[in-house]
Amino acid sequence: MSGPSGVGKGTVRELLMEDKSLNLFYSVSMTTRHMRPGEVNGREYYFVSREEFMDNVARDNLLEWAEYVGNCYGTPRDKVEAMRNEGKNVLLEIDVKGAANVFKKVPDVISIFIAPPSVEELGNRLRGRGTESEEVIANRVSQAMKELEYKNLYKYVVINDKLEDCVEEIRQIIRSKM
Ligand code: 5GP
Repeated sequence: MSGPSGVGKGTVRELLMEDKSLNLFYSVSMTTRHMRPGEVNGREYYFVSREEFMDNVARDNLLEWAEYVGNCYGTPRDKVEAMRNEGKNVLLEIDVKGAANVFKKVPDVISIFIAPPSVEELGNRLRGRGTESEEVIANRVSQAMKELEYKNLYKYVVINDKLEDCVEEIRQIIRSKM
């Protein structure tokens, strides 16, 4: 699952995960970005130094990774494989560049892009979150415009206008593939 920063991916994810019938397990990514207030190491992300991140890249322990607005993000391969071996459906919430690599490596991937109703709305939502400076918000909005160009790489594009509708649509997509 991908979508620009501020589109509401985190909330969509939480609601999807509440539905136990989907058998969804979240893959906690590794990142070099700073921890936001309220985040917990090992829950939202594994927060690591750039050195540690690059060490994981060198050891080929990342299924994919990408640099996003100055920080590195990646999916720990061993954890994803362990969950899949247990028959779990693994949910990745990653950026478009990383996702393009997963599409090549994982044949049974279900790819979903969550799009905002408009770019203006996205800026408003990021401001409302109140965790980032105007400069970071401007960077993320311009990044979002670039990401939207990739949406056609995904099998499904779901617009997050009304949260419940967006979640229900994704739930149906997953169910139809189970
Ligand atoms: P944030 O800093 O807002 O938590 O995340 C920024 C972006 O990085 C989001 O688009 C998010 O989906 C993406 N991201 C998070 N984890 C990963 C990952 O493991 N790999 C890649 N490629 N992108 C990720």
